[in-house]
Amino acid sequence: MTDFAVPLSRPSIGQDDIAAVLEVLRSPNLSMGPAVRRFERAVAEYVGTAEAVAVNSGTSGLHLCLAAEGIGPGDEVITTPFSFVASANCALYQGARPVFADIDPLTLNLDPRRVEAAVTRRTRAIVSVDVFGQPGPTEPLRAIAARHGIALVEDACEAIGAERNGRRVGTGVRSAVFAFYPNKAITTGEGGVIVTDDRELAALMRSLANQGRDDAGTWMNHVRLGFNYRLDEMSAALGASQMARLDRILDRREQVAGWYAERLWRVEGIRLPYVARETTRMSWFVYVIQLDERVDRTSLMAALEADGIPTRPYFVPIHLQPLYRERFGHGPGEFPVAERVARATLALPFFTEMTEDQVDLVCDRLIDRLRTTWTLSRSRPASRIALAPIGEWS
Ligand SMILES: *Cc1c(COP(=O)(O)O)cnc(C)c1O
Repeated sequence: MTDFAVPLSRPSIGQDDIAAVLEVLRSPNLSMGPAVRRFERAVAEYVGTAEAVAVNSGTSGLHLCLAAEGIGPGDEVITTPFSFVASANCALYQGARPVFADIDPLTLNLDPRRVEAAVTRRTRAIVSVDVFGQPGPTEPLRAIAARHGIALVEDACEAIGAERNGRRVGTGVRSAVFAFYPNKAITTGEGGVIVTDDRELAALMRSLANQGRDDAGTWMNHVRLGFNYRLDEMSAALGASQMARLDRILDRREQVAGWYAERLWRVEGIRLPYVARETTRMSWFVYVIQLDERVDRTSLMAALEADGIPTRPYFVPIHLQPLYRERFGHGPGEFPVAERVARATLALPFFTEMTEDQVDLVCDRLIDRLRTTWTLSRSRPASRIALAPIGEWS
C-alpha cells in the first residue's frame, strides 16, 4: 500500500466529540436514547425544518423518503446519472424504475428542462442531488413537481449547510436527506438524517425505520413492513457534538477551497469548481477539478499516486455502472453531458483540517505532473500560466 503524503479525506474529530461518545458508553442507553433526540433537534433547528429523523445511513434515509411516499413497482423516479449510486438505488429498493435526466454542465446538478422532458404518466418522484455540496435547482424542480403532482426529494447527502438564494438546503422540498459517512463535512461514522416539514410523513418514517412499529412505539406491535434503520446512541452523540461546530467546519472548508483556487485558477488544462450565482453558500464536500481532454487522467492519477498524492475520478455515471447496464440496457452516449464531465473530473485531497502547506504540496505536484501527462506534444503548454478566466476551459 502506498503511504500517502496527504490523505484524500479525513474526519475532524475533537476532544468534545470523544467525550460525547464516552459519555454514552458510560450510560445505560446505547440505542433509542436521548442522544438521537438531541441530534435530531440540532439538525432540524440548524436546517429550519419542523422535523428531523435520524437513520443509520444516507442511503437508508433516501430509501425511507421513497417508501414513505408509497412508491412501488411500476412507478418511475427521475434522478441524475451524475451522483453516488444510492441516489438511484433508493428507487430500486422499492421496485420502482430510476429514470435519468442529464445535468447542467456548469453546476453538475440536474437540468430542469431535461427533468421535465423525462416526466411520464408513471413518474412519482424526483430525487434532486446537491452535487459536491452545491444546491440543486430547487425552485424550478418544485414547479415541475407541483405541475405533475409528484414528490420532490432532495439528496442533500453532500450539502449540509449549503444555501441557495439565502435558503438552507433541505427546506422547500417534501423531504431531504443528509449523510454523515466519515468523508462528509461532518460525521457520525455511519449515519444520516431525514428532514421534512410534514409531521405525518416524519411519523411514518420513524415507524418505517423502527421495524414498522406503531406511533406509540409499542414494542411488539408491527403495523407495517418496516426496516431496522435506527441510528445508535454513540453515533448520534458524535453527530450532535459535530453539529455544534458545523459553521466553523464549513468556514474552514471554504478556506481550504479558496487556497486551491488561488493556486490553480491560472493553470492551463484545469477547470476549477463552478459556483453558481444562486449558490449563496457552498458546503464544500470535495474539491473536484476538471481536466482538459488532452490530459491523460489515468496517467496523471498514477503519477500523483507515486508522489504520495491520492486522487479520485468522481463520479462514474450511475447508468454506466454494471448493475444498471445489465438491468436496464444502459450504455455510453445516453447522457452526454454527465459522461463528458465524468471523464474529466478529478477529486483532490480535501478535508477540514487540511493546511495551506498541504494544499501547496498537492498543487505543486499536480502542476508538475500535468506537464508530463499532456497527451498531444504539439499543444503542450509553453508555461503553467494561461489566460482563461475561472469557469472557462483553458
Ligand atoms: C454519501 C452520499 C449518500 C449516502 O451515503 P451513505 O454512505 O449511505 O451514508 C447518498 N447520496 C450521495 C450523493 C452521497 O454523496
